[in-house]
Amino acid sequence: MRCPYCRHADSRVVDSREADDGQLIRRRRSCPECGKRFTTVEEAVLAVVKRSGVTEPFSRTKIIGGVRKACQGRPVDEDSIALLAQKVEETVRAKGAAEIPSHDVGLAILGPLRDLDEVAYLRFASVYRSFDSLADFEQEIETLRAAARAREGAAEAGAAGTAGRTN
Ligand SMILES: [Zn+2]
Repeated sequence: MRCPYCRHADSRVVDSREADDGQLIRRRRSCPECGKRFTTVEEAVLAVVKRSGVTEPFSRTKIIGGVRKACQGRPVDEDSIALLAQKVEETVRAKGAAEIPSHDVGLAILGPLRDLDEVAYLRFASVYRSFDSLADFEQEIETLRAAARAREGAAEAGAAGTAGRTN
C-alpha cells in the first residue's frame, strides 16, 4: 500500500484488527521512508450479479437511489430511506455469499419498503416484478389490504385483551 504522505510505494503493517463483527479489517501501517503512520480498511467485496450475468459491487447508494425514486412525493424522510438501505445490506450480507443475484437484492428491498410506505412499495414492486396489467396491481393491492386487515384484527384483539385485564 502506497504511503499517502510521501507516495513511497511500500508500507509495513504494524497492527491489524477486525471491526464491524469481522466484516472489516483495519490495518495500521507505517511508512519506512517518512516514518508516518496511516490506517487502511479492508472489506470483502459483495458482488451483485445482474440478469445479464454482469457483476458489480453491492452499493448501498444505489439502493438508496432506487428507493428514493419510488418514494417521490411520499411522506418518507431521508433517514428512513438510509435505514432501509442499511437493513437491505444486512439482509444480503447475512446470507454469507460472495455473490448475490440482483433479484435477491430486490426481494430484500420489498419487505421493509412495504412497512415504510405502501404506495412506494407498489411503485417499486410494479417495476421489479414487471407488472404488465391492471390485474397485477389489483392482486398486489388485495394482498396489501389483507395484510392491513390482519394487522387491524391483531391490534383489536390485543386492545380487547388489555381492556379485559384492566377491568
Ligand atoms: Zn511515507
